[in-house]
Amino acid sequence: MNQEQLTYFKNILENWLHELLHHADDSVGGLLVSESSMPDMLDRATFEAAHDFKLRILDRESILINKIRQSLTDIENGEYGICQICGGDISIERLKARPVAHQCIKCKTRMEAKERLTGT
Ligand SMILES: [Zn+2]
Repeated sequence: MNQEQLTYFKNILENWLHELLHHADDSVGGLLVSESSMPDMLDRATFEAAHDFKLRILDRESILINKIRQSLTDIENGEYGICQICGGDISIERLKARPVAHQCIKCKTRMEAKERLTGT
């Protein structure tokens, strides 16, 4: 991958990370406010379900945030766009669709086929 392409993906990843971090701040802030100002008569179960749901979203976001950070580190180390499994190049088209991809399409497809077979 050339320098121009690396800069292109670095920009995408940094903007994405910024958006996610900003959004996560909002969610956590909203969570704290709704918790402290919750009226006593509010259905506790309903509140807890909403709380769990928010935490699950935050959880999923933090996994994505870690993946983005990993990709940015890869760019720094010159390892971005290289498949973790076979060491081959991940195609630009694939990275454009999924900038945090760490496997080439061949390895990813093989992995998913295996997951389907073993049911994990
Ligand atoms: Zn591969």
